[in-house]
Amino acid sequence: MKKKDVIVVGSGAGGATVAKELAKSGFKVTVLEKGPTVKMKKAHEHYEIINTGVEISQTVCIGGTSAVTIGNAVRTCEKYLKKIGINLEEEFKEIENELSVQTLPDSHFGKGTTMLMDAAESLGFHMEKMPKFINPEKCEPCGKCAFGCSKNAKWTTEVFIEEAKQYGTIVIDNTPVTHILIENSKVTGVKCHNKIFRSDIVILSAGAIQTPRLLQKIGIRAGKNLFVDTFVTVGGIIKKIKFNKELMMNSVIKLDNIVIAPHFSGLLVEKLKDFKARKKDIIGLMVKIADESTGEVTPDEVIKFNTANDVELLAKGSAIAGAILTHAGVEPKTLVSTYARGAHPGGTAAIGDVVDKNLETEIKGLYVADASIFPEAPGAPPVLTILALAKRLGKHISSEYENS
Ligand SMILES: Cc1cc2nc3c(=O)[nH]c(=O)nc-3n(C[C@H](O)[C@H](O)[C@H](O)COP(=O)(O)OP(=O)(O)OC[C@H]3O[C@@H](n4cnc5c(N)ncnc54)[C@H](O)[C@@H]3O)c2cc1C
Repeated sequence: MKKKDVIVVGSGAGGATVAKELAKSGFKVTVLEKGPTVKMKKAHEHYEIINTGVEISQTVCIGGTSAVTIGNAVRTCEKYLKKIGINLEEEFKEIENELSVQTLPDSHFGKGTTMLMDAAESLGFHMEKMPKFINPEKCEPCGKCAFGCSKNAKWTTEVFIEEAKQYGTIVIDNTPVTHILIENSKVTGVKCHNKIFRSDIVILSAGAIQTPRLLQKIGIRAGKNLFVDTFVTVGGIIKKIKFNKELMMNSVIKLDNIVIAPHFSGLLVEKLKDFKARKKDIIGLMVKIADESTGEVTPDEVIKFNTANDVELLAKGSAIAGAILTHAGVEPKTLVSTYARGAHPGGTAAIGDVVDKNLETEIKGLYVADASIFPEAPGAPPVLTILALAKRLGKHISSEYENS
């Protein structure tokens, strides 16, 4: 029997994974991507920054925001998902295996990171190595993961897109989906401006800002509950430490709703201009929190501000970061912080609210597979969980449509 036609909207973490899984199961998959095809090392040219109360970053290109990750690979929201009947153990294991998730050897830990790890330990904070989807044999630490990897040492969805193509998937770039087509409460395809693409199944993976907007256009109440895993980078000066060239976030302190990890931000250079600091003189720690899901995406606005609780968590984390940095040798008078930013937008089409446990909306055949479906802020890197959920969706659709 002929397998169904599937359209996947977006080629990021969720989209590429579900496209690959379904193509491998014999579905006829087309991926429609708003952004262009780019070399991964050029991904930084395709950042889309949303200036709101908490600045939000994403990338719009083939690979989506996976192109600029720092390679952090941790399981998140596992407990909550289990409680609502979603056990991702099998999918997590499969993904960790496919991405060769591992902590990196000592050769990949720079001087600054090691100093911060030692300082944290001596203050009583355990800083453990961060698991990564980075191949240490290809990686020559340069501090530029978030620009796009020039050595292809870091996993991105480009790998899954290539695999999907081998199983017949058609990938069309520079093609933003503008509308979802529905007949008799069943999805029938999508529109990209004037062009129509018909399919039996549509999977929205346009990310937590654009997916709810597409849903809103067909009358589905999505867009509330936005979180971003708000972070600041606290830093100061240790002359010629060259921390900016190290692999970022190679270790982490995990506290309740706060993580603290070695991180350089170019924004600190401007903040430290009175001290004539250059990039190579600055060392820092990222303080990231599980923020409250009080943001909202509307058709023409993104609203996201820190709540009192968010500020309390950021302040607590920053105080700890300041203490560790000082203990590592930073002069206290040079300590500064960036403004609040968020790189993990999610929650805007949450499981149990906008989609069911099988990630299907109220429209038959219309699914969501991206960070929108998270029920709450993970306060930690979400990619592994997005991949596991997208993999599970691939299995669900395969069994659901096997004999239809
Ligand atoms: C600098 C940075 C570092 C990060 N580091 C890590 C890390 O180390 N580990 C981790 O787990 N997470 C990390 N993250 C977060 C992680 O990258 C994102 O949470 C994740 O990639 C989001 O996946 P997604 O599928 O929801 O959306 P995206 O990956 O953003 O994919 C959405 C895709 O849809 C496309 N699109 C949008 N609208 C349309 C439309 N209308 N039609 C067609 N296509 C459309 C976009 O162009 C994009 O390709 C980082 C984020 C940033 C910004």
